[in-house]
Amino acid sequence: MNNQLYGNLIFELSHPGRKGYSLPNNEFGHYELPATICRAEDAPLPECDELTVVRHYTNHSANNFGVNNGFYPLGSCTMKYNPVLNEETALLPGFQALHPSQPEDTCQGALELMFNLQHSLSALTGLSDFTLNPFAGAHGELTGLMIIRAYHQQRGDDRRTKVIVPDTAHGTNPASAAVCGLDVVEVRSTQDGTVDVDDLREKLDGTIAAVMMTNPNTLGLFERQIPEIAKLVHANGTLLYYDGANLNPMLGKCRPGDMGFDVMHINLHKTFSTPHGGGGPGCGPVGVRAGMEELLPCRVVKSGDALYHIVRNEGIQVGATVGNFAVMVRAYTYILSLGKEEVKMVGPLATLNANYIKESLKDLYELPIDTLCKHEFVFNGLKDKSTGVTTMDIAKRLLDYGYHAPTIYFPLLFHESLMIEPTESESKDTIDGFIAVMRRIAEEAITNPDMVKGAPHSTPIGRVDDVLAAKQPVLTFREVRGEE
Ligand SMILES: *Cc1c(COP(=O)(O)O)cnc(C)c1O
Repeated sequence: MNNQLYGNLIFELSHPGRKGYSLPNNEFGHYELPATICRAEDAPLPECDELTVVRHYTNHSANNFGVNNGFYPLGSCTMKYNPVLNEETALLPGFQALHPSQPEDTCQGALELMFNLQHSLSALTGLSDFTLNPFAGAHGELTGLMIIRAYHQQRGDDRRTKVIVPDTAHGTNPASAAVCGLDVVEVRSTQDGTVDVDDLREKLDGTIAAVMMTNPNTLGLFERQIPEIAKLVHANGTLLYYDGANLNPMLGKCRPGDMGFDVMHINLHKTFSTPHGGGGPGCGPVGVRAGMEELLPCRVVKSGDALYHIVRNEGIQVGATVGNFAVMVRAYTYILSLGKEEVKMVGPLATLNANYIKESLKDLYELPIDTLCKHEFVFNGLKDKSTGVTTMDIAKRLLDYGYHAPTIYFPLLFHESLMIEPTESESKDTIDGFIAVMRRIAEEAITNPDMVKGAPHSTPIGRVDDVLAAKQPVLTFREVRGEE
């Protein structure tokens, strides 16, 4: 890469007086801005010519890693391929040029797409209707919990101030509950990695508003006791919430609504392709069972005049607009292009790929829960602990071989968690290549542990001090002058 020539920071390329624009002559005379709105000093902006700027950013972009340039087995994140067709439809001029405040009669096509997507999600999940409004999975959780709180309040029940969350849950679950003003009660997992029903039974009382479940859970295991849990929860007047961020293994095979879930969110940006990572873009639709539709903050309905309208619940507002529309277009394209039959292959293929990797590596990597997994599974570092090579070292060494690292040190249940999710999009060749490299790293851990601990060796930036990076991040440029 040409970063020596074209700079790590655009500020390093700045030369006073250089510029990349040329403005036409001003025909309207000179206008002085009032001093009250002017800076005392000019902003310290970099001064560069256009070609330097283009090369600088192009070279940086080549350092990006994405699903489009390599295998990305980031567990719990479902980094599946986003088909090019999705981008073509999202970029159709009629969709791209929409304005969020446009009158409804001028954007009926967009509203129809939203309506159809809501109902596709209903068909896939067994819930009655969806709002597409939330902008992320965590935002969907918050929305779902607000709906649950409103449900209890409508029934005059305001003692329900707590949410039960399993100890394997994604960190966003307790965080969303806290943001919603609800207290978190943790429920234990059993030795086999699923929810301990006895512990749950003990914790259920009149203060519990909801039980949040993830299925398959964060260990990639199917929670087999859901029917029993649903009975217990409902008998207590509590609602059952489904974290459907990773609906992948279930798609077209089984439906949360049929299992007794009352409210759920889906991450369109995981299960239904859409590129994501680094904070966006996302869409976290929330679905509810029959009878709760009016609590949804915003949804599209079809009225008697055959027109589509947005219906809002003013009591629950979670976004200024109807949501991340381009993500909806991509997800709907993805659902339609798979179709009713092919969508049923997503889950089995994602499951097959995950189990194939697990079985091919479990002689070298420690598998704390050795059972059939769904779309992902968790190793607890290398089996041979004597080398001192950690999960962090393995993750860094993978970068040298051109792979994105799996999710590491999550879930917190094990000390050296290494969570792998291949998704259904990958070919057997790609997966075999990854397995071969993982085996090679296990071998290197024995033959040359120091080299593995010093990885990565071939990336533009070597091993960073991640504690320092987390505790004292330097996120803005400040010019260092002289002795400072
Ligand atoms: C990704 C994920 C979330 C959060 O989704 P965001 O879009 O990142 O907010 C919640 N729960 C589970 C199980 C997830 O995998």
